[in-house]
Amino acid sequence: MSFAHLGLSQKVLDAVTAAGYSAPTPIQDQAIPHVLARRDVLGIAQTGTGKTAAFVLPMLTTLEQGRARARMPRTLILEPTRELAAQVEESFIKYGKNHKLNVALLIGGVSFGNQDTKLTRGVDVLIATPGRLLDHTERGGLLLTGVELLVIDEADRMLDMGFIPDIERICKLVPFTRQTLFFTATMPPEIRRITEQFLHNPVKVEV
Ligand code: AMP
Repeated sequence: MSFAHLGLSQKVLDAVTAAGYSAPTPIQDQAIPHVLARRDVLGIAQTGTGKTAAFVLPMLTTLEQGRARARMPRTLILEPTRELAAQVEESFIKYGKNHKLNVALLIGGVSFGNQDTKLTRGVDVLIATPGRLLDHTERGGLLLTGVELLVIDEADRMLDMGFIPDIERICKLVPFTRQTLFFTATMPPEIRRITEQFLHNPVKVEV
């Protein structure tokens, strides 16, 4: 199988070719068509399976239509650590180099003001750790009511780090009608419970 049959845009296919990938990994093959069809996805996959591109590539395709408004990101990706958030940002830069999209990173330990300035310019893709994201919403500089797609990545690590209450708060700030992509390496009972709460009729993809 090649990338050509998954429904990705030509710009994204060009980026995949430039990255040197000849074929999609199993999670990409199984998840990408559902993401493009705006279905919720429950992905059970470890790091190293290509799961980042499984959401980044279809998101780039979808984001080619429409524009961001100030302080209202169009998509939101939650990551448990600064390092993982920075890696996802790098993926957007790598695969999205032919796209004119604004990508912003909201993580702790760096200046709040610079992050706030970026939000005022309109953000297509917001990548955040839960604590810093909630700092911005509480200060009034960030509205999540325009989020069309939410990614909860590494959910079992979020659980280990005590972030589930924060994720529950964030899920109340995004529209009920958004699309949700949820990735976890394991399915302990607490994770199963929140998938039932956050996902609407999801397609399950397990690799
Ligand atoms: P991830 O599981 O998202 O952390 O990705 C693991 C690694 O696989 C990254 O270094 C990607 O650059 C690489 N990768 C992702 N998709 C493909 C693919 N279809 N073919 C070859 N390498 C890939």
